[in-house]
Amino acid sequence: MEFVNRFATELPELCHQQQPTPLKDPEMAIVSHDAAQLIGLDSDFMAGPQALGLSAGKLLIDGMQPASTVYAGHQFGGYSPQLGDGRALLLGEVKTPQGDYWELQLKGSGLTPFSRQGDGKAVLRSSIREFLASEAMAALGIATTRALSLTVGSGLVQRERFEKEAMLVRMAPSHIRFGHFEYLYHQQQTKPLKRLVDFCLEHYFSDCLEQSNPVLAMLEQVVDSTALMIAQWQAEGFCHGVMNTDNMSILGLTMDYGPYGFLDDYDPLHICNHSDHYGRYAFNQQPGIGLWNLQRLAQALSDYIPSHQTEPLWVRYQQKINQHYQSLMLNKLGLQVWQDGDEALLAQLLKLLAEQKADYHQSLRALAQPLEELPQRLAEPWQTWLTLYTARCQHSKLSQQQRIEHIQQHVPLYVLRNYLAQHAIEQAEGGDYANLQLLHKVLSQPFSQQADMQRFAETPPSWGKCLEISCSS
Ligand code: AMP
Ligand code: MG
Repeated sequence: MEFVNRFATELPELCHQQQPTPLKDPEMAIVSHDAAQLIGLDSDFMAGPQALGLSAGKLLIDGMQPASTVYAGHQFGGYSPQLGDGRALLLGEVKTPQGDYWELQLKGSGLTPFSRQGDGKAVLRSSIREFLASEAMAALGIATTRALSLTVGSGLVQRERFEKEAMLVRMAPSHIRFGHFEYLYHQQQTKPLKRLVDFCLEHYFSDCLEQSNPVLAMLEQVVDSTALMIAQWQAEGFCHGVMNTDNMSILGLTMDYGPYGFLDDYDPLHICNHSDHYGRYAFNQQPGIGLWNLQRLAQALSDYIPSHQTEPLWVRYQQKINQHYQSLMLNKLGLQVWQDGDEALLAQLLKLLAEQKADYHQSLRALAQPLEELPQRLAEPWQTWLTLYTARCQHSKLSQQQRIEHIQQHVPLYVLRNYLAQHAIEQAEGGDYANLQLLHKVLSQPFSQQADMQRFAETPPSWGKCLEISCSS
């Protein structure tokens, strides 16, 4: 495996080159073989000393050029002029035989010039949450950074309590954030900003180079990928929790998993981040915040795009997000082609789910039964909606069996619920990673029924619904 680091080489003004601080007595807790495969690493390699050394910050491979990067960002609406990788290092990029580049980042790699008040470390709890979410989102078909490995050390670090320290290797074609652009724009570093723009165009948006305004074309692609990603979040009941612009990927990847949560009961107002007192990042706010964040990116690119040219992009964003969301939800209802009246059918269902505080995923999956059997299984408030739904299904080209299979392929049976992650965390903190590995395996095939795994498909016990997840990780 050979490494380069185009970001560190071509954008030195955004990088601080430095070595990781290795983990003490590292132990590999879990590996994602699906992620490893993407960069051509087999299970023998991942079980060997090189993978452990790499994952624990003890070993670098030829060509790696570890660096922390600086960025800025709008956090909860206010501009923070300097953030950056406070506990992560970009190690480098591996080029696959197919010609794709994957960056590897080591998270929990120690102090950097951007650590501010932090200690540069990551704890096992939050690293498990990021590992599981990255891989579960990928299995749901949502663009995301990936998790390659999670390593645990013998040291303890102080958060609200003392916790085990850990390191996560994450992977993405690029970890460039909106905040990288904002940093250079607000610092009025015109030439480096131009280099960052050119870097993105050359490496990630080369098809835009043929357009009359390549930067506008690139922004349009960011708008599209962000709209798709957020429509998928809404359809899968995923609440990110910290949609600051420094956590927004230029490639439309879900990134920086902190206090995120998948909905249990359907609550459009759900706030998953304990520190989000005003619900800025509540579940139903995410599409609007996505737009606001894109507008901050557009501002950082305003030397290249006059503001009147960005206006149509905001209309485009709203249209794209609605179109994607409608088609994703239609699939979940076992239908295919959007028809008049479907908007009301969907709105009524969501209203009912919210009023009944019904489990989002299980309620949808319950529709994967013969229509004649549904009324016996679902009690009174559902009857009116079921009558509408039954009538609508009669106008569908899918047979009953096809409808059922369509739902099963689009509504996951296994969802990364907070209480499941919590179980895996508690056992891992006691040194037992079996449940973590099993949960990861189950979530890698979220749509298909797996033998003896029913316990991962249950709704949460009451304690599991009100877990408070804070930012401190
Ligand atoms: P996050 O909420 O993880 O997206 O982090 C926001 C900012 O705080 C980023 O610049 C992080 O690098 C930094 N940060 C978070 N936790 C730590 C930590 N334990 N040590 C150093 N920096 C941190
Ligand atoms: Mg972040």
